[in-house]
Amino acid sequence: MLFEDKRRSFNFINTPAKITNINAIEVLDSRGNPTIEVEIIAEKDISFSFRKKKYKAWARVPSGASTGDFEAVELRDNDTNRFNGKGVLKAIKNIEEEISLLLLGKDPTKQRVIDQLMIRLDGTDNKSKLGANAILAVSMATARLGAMIKNQRLFQYINTLAVNTELEISRPFFNVINGGVHAGNKLAFQEFMISPRNGNFADKYRAASEIYHSLKKILENKFGRQATLLGDEGGFAPNDLVKPEEVFDLLLEAVKKAGYEGLVDFAIDVAASEFFVDEKYNLGIKDTEDNFKDIDEMIEIYLNLVEKYPLISIEDPFDQKDFEAFSLLRKKLENKNIQVVGDDLTVTNPSRIRTAIRKNSCDTLLLKLNQIGTVTEAIEALFTARSAGWNIMVSHRSGETIDDFIADFAVGVGAEQIKSGAPARGERTSKYNRLLAIEKKTNISL
Ligand code: PEP
Ligand code: MG
Repeated sequence: MLFEDKRRSFNFINTPAKITNINAIEVLDSRGNPTIEVEIIAEKDISFSFRKKKYKAWARVPSGASTGDFEAVELRDNDTNRFNGKGVLKAIKNIEEEISLLLLGKDPTKQRVIDQLMIRLDGTDNKSKLGANAILAVSMATARLGAMIKNQRLFQYINTLAVNTELEISRPFFNVINGGVHAGNKLAFQEFMISPRNGNFADKYRAASEIYHSLKKILENKFGRQATLLGDEGGFAPNDLVKPEEVFDLLLEAVKKAGYEGLVDFAIDVAASEFFVDEKYNLGIKDTEDNFKDIDEMIEIYLNLVEKYPLISIEDPFDQKDFEAFSLLRKKLENKNIQVVGDDLTVTNPSRIRTAIRKNSCDTLLLKLNQIGTVTEAIEALFTARSAGWNIMVSHRSGETIDDFIADFAVGVGAEQIKSGAPARGERTSKYNRLLAIEKKTNISL
């Protein structure tokens, strides 16, 4: 009997690896809210031996605050006795029971098959049954396992999943001033980003860090130390600024003081859905007085900013349902080489991206894995956007962990751009630091 068993596992040909264990735990993200960590173990027979090789990979999922209405569902327990209802024990149970039962014995190098099996098991349009957080954690850890088994670096493996598009070290956009729902200040716009233009990734990262520190000194000198407190993405969140112009003037000063005058572009994520109230945009939503603007007035604001500052990228300038307002802005910006980025509008969802393409609403996709819930579908979303010639900006979430998966993902799919918050705080720099390492270890550069 023993002899027979051994003969069966004796491996003359290359048998596939098999998933043997899936475990999940409730951990905390950078905002102190529960999220999911998954560990998957797989085994593979070693050729011409009776032994097996073990592979172990993990992943942690992020979580947004300015979450789009059309995103895949992040399953929370809603048990107000634990973590204010934000616990993820149901999602963890789904991983350890239903998803495990489905995937044990399956080959982790078959990413598409694994993702499709989970999508089918969930059976809903928005992953509300099992939870996109549960599914994505397994999907990402599976990709890591696949890379290990194929003896590839994660970005190379992702590249094979993305059918060998050209590898690229993505251009970074660093969020140095936080507003919107990411900060307790008066700024309605959510993110003010800098993107150094010159050099390789390491040069851009260094420039961003130096500008960040010069900005800190300027804020401290002008408004006192409390102006250097931070928002959720590691950027400063001064309470003394209200208008975007005030922010950009300080950014210009910081860039100049750091010695990079004329060498840095700016970008904003307006996240306008968060202050869209009664069909108008309330720029005073966090201030003492309301300040309502209609679409034309918002367009006027954007055009003025583009005229005055080196602003090259505008994300979510209007409400997440208003494809037409996005198109209007696109028309006004024609020939100006300013990109319009869809985030809450398109939610990394091929069907919404197709609508945005048809209506000419954007020319850049913000790609967030947890908006759609699997690695395979995120790559599909990318192909949809690429079919219309869009740029891709891979993105972190405001609630993050130290998981640096998106850095490899961005390089592997050849994304032109990436945003991962400030050049500070561990959960933000983990991604940038990984890009630095990829750039150093390979011949790929920006
Ligand atoms: C964003 O809106 O682009 C973002 C990163 O924020 P959040 O994760 O809160 O949606
Ligand atoms: Mg956004």
